[in-house]
Amino acid sequence: MLTIIVPCYNEEETIPLFFKAIESQKKYLNEPIEYIFINDGSQDESIKKIKELGLQFTNVHFIDFSRNFGKEAAMFAGLQKASGDFVTIMDADLQDPPELLPEMLMMLNNNPELDCVGTRRIDRNGESATRSFLAKTFYKLMDKISDAQLVDGARDFRMMRRQMVDAILMLTEYNRFSKGLFTWVGFNTEYLTYNNRERVAGETSWSFKQLFRYSIEGITDFSDLPLSIATYMGVISCVIAVLSLVVIVLRTLIFGDPTQGWPSLASIVLLLGGIQLLCIGIIGKYVGKIYLETKNRPIYIIKDTDLDVSNKSDIEEK
Ligand code: UDP
Ligand code: MG
Repeated sequence: MLTIIVPCYNEEETIPLFFKAIESQKKYLNEPIEYIFINDGSQDESIKKIKELGLQFTNVHFIDFSRNFGKEAAMFAGLQKASGDFVTIMDADLQDPPELLPEMLMMLNNNPELDCVGTRRIDRNGESATRSFLAKTFYKLMDKISDAQLVDGARDFRMMRRQMVDAILMLTEYNRFSKGLFTWVGFNTEYLTYNNRERVAGETSWSFKQLFRYSIEGITDFSDLPLSIATYMGVISCVIAVLSLVVIVLRTLIFGDPTQGWPSLASIVLLLGGIQLLCIGIIGKYVGKIYLETKNRPIYIIKDTDLDVSNKSDIEEK
């Protein structure tokens, strides 16, 4: 069986279109499909649309969150409840082309060595130039400083074997950065490429600010380089301080002591103060993450679902 996980946040318009698009691919897939729609605290009628589908088709399941927990939480919930041998995660807005599904399944069926087929956008048409630039920079930076090698343009849209899904489920951290987790667990992954598409309806729920925060999360979840920045800057300023001390002592011995340099002194004090605050901020960011992890809160809370009720709420599991 193939499980398709669909995180939905305010997707009332796209859900029926999405379902139709997948059903049109069904004839090319020689596996039965199980749908899991996760309603991530939508303010619109998304849950109604999902339940309507559920009434018509017995293979459509829903998980209704008690509030908006974010796409990461929705994907995790879907992975936990998925029962297929193959599991796919897809956006509801049809930005992930359903036509790729048969090819992905075929690749996995034909090659037992392969554990996962991912997808990658080769362009970012329809996206603003600044947004593409920032995204590219982020991928390059992540590649350099973290131990999770991200693939440029890789989407969450991927088809995985059961074994890989189980591996991801072992990572129960609260701060989830799935793009990193998918590569961190390893396994053989091949990527299909496609040209970017725009969403069929509705609007993206990601603002610039959120994307920026998301990238900071990504960096701090997978790299401790920012923490070392404090050490590097400390070493550099010590060296500079020692050098200038020598210069000042020599200058005083040779030229006497003309009282000079208040502006430069003030700048130096400000600069060092700034660097110290920056470093405290960086450390604070990591401490904050530790704080959230140690609280051991559930990643999501389910209000209603037609799936396995025994673990209806993640709280009971913990
Ligand atoms: N999504 C979600 N919870 C959120 C935000 C988004 O489940 O808090 C879902 C959304 O419904 C969609 C997918 O995640 O299926 C991708 O979101 P979106 O299309 O807004 O992001 P973009 O494609 O612009 O990166
Ligand atoms: Mg989208």
